[in-house]
Amino acid sequence: MPTPLPKPAYVDLHIHSTASDGSFSPVEIIEIAKKAGLRAIAITDHDTLEGSVEALRHRHSSDVEILPGIEISVTFDSGTMHMLGYLVDLDDASLRQSLKAVQKARADRNLQIVEKLRDLGVDMDYDDVSEVSGGGQIGRPHIAQVLVQKKVVQSINEAFNKLLRKGCPAYVERYRLLPVEAIQTILGAGGVPVLAHPFTLNTKTEGDLDRVLADLKQAGLRGLEAYYPSHGPQRTASYERLAYRHGLLLTGGTDFHGTAKPGIHIGIGRGDLRVPYRLVETLKRCAASGRHFNTIPKTSA
Ligand code: AMP
Ligand code: FE
Ligand code: FE
Ligand code: ZN
Repeated sequence: MPTPLPKPAYVDLHIHSTASDGSFSPVEIIEIAKKAGLRAIAITDHDTLEGSVEALRHRHSSDVEILPGIEISVTFDSGTMHMLGYLVDLDDASLRQSLKAVQKARADRNLQIVEKLRDLGVDMDYDDVSEVSGGGQIGRPHIAQVLVQKKVVQSINEAFNKLLRKGCPAYVERYRLLPVEAIQTILGAGGVPVLAHPFTLNTKTEGDLDRVLADLKQAGLRGLEAYYPSHGPQRTASYERLAYRHGLLLTGGTDFHGTAKPGIHIGIGRGDLRVPYRLVETLKRCAASGRHFNTIPKTSA
């Protein structure tokens, strides 16, 4: 009898908890990840380390490995740019200081959005939003949830498309870090900066994204999130090519938000995503050495 091959190990490096706009607590997420058979996860809450702090506090509750993570929203004119930071020192003073400023700006913006909605005739106040947020950091998805509850709109998506998205009547701009600031802050905290879901940049061609990546690489970017539920084989292949060209490592995750993002399951996204553990090993080598590492794509994960 031949020796059976070891079971492949999979990971999910992009997960949101109740510390931002996900619907499950970090402890619940560890449990869900364990049931899904994942070997490692990273909780990457928007502009806060609290999801990772809480998950790491419970790292011995199962054999699921927990990597410290965060997802920072940064400025980008023509689309949405999010910077993932992996293996950061959760106590780094400069990272915490930067996040404090961002969190204050977010809280002020949230109040202004509610004000705008009231001006538009919506009968709501800030307590309604605090209530649905579950005690974590408040974001537009929570405001959207209140709008659905109050039957102002039929769905979260409609809330964004009619009221909360850039260009809509209740949209309010807020202070964000520049991409280079987020990258340098993550590096300064011993972490690995990775560009999240590159398709949200809304670049038109591979050449356009290539130019953005050249600038980000110059600023210190180390990786690209190539494996993501809505990327599809063509985009994934394009991101693998670009990562290879720029000497960026590859990461992947589902952007699981629990019930706040229906249809996306931990570890597998819409069912077909698989992110291999070897990408975590590359991340660790990158963080440990501070050098760039290229993950040569073998297969589309
Ligand atoms: P905020 O960080 O408060 O500005 O809110 C932005 C977050 O809202 C994003 O990171 C997503 O998690 C979520 N989001 C954006 N657009 C939508 C949408 N159409 N439906 C559901 N959630 C969305
Ligand atoms: Fe989110
Ligand atoms: Fe994101
Ligand atoms: Zn995310």
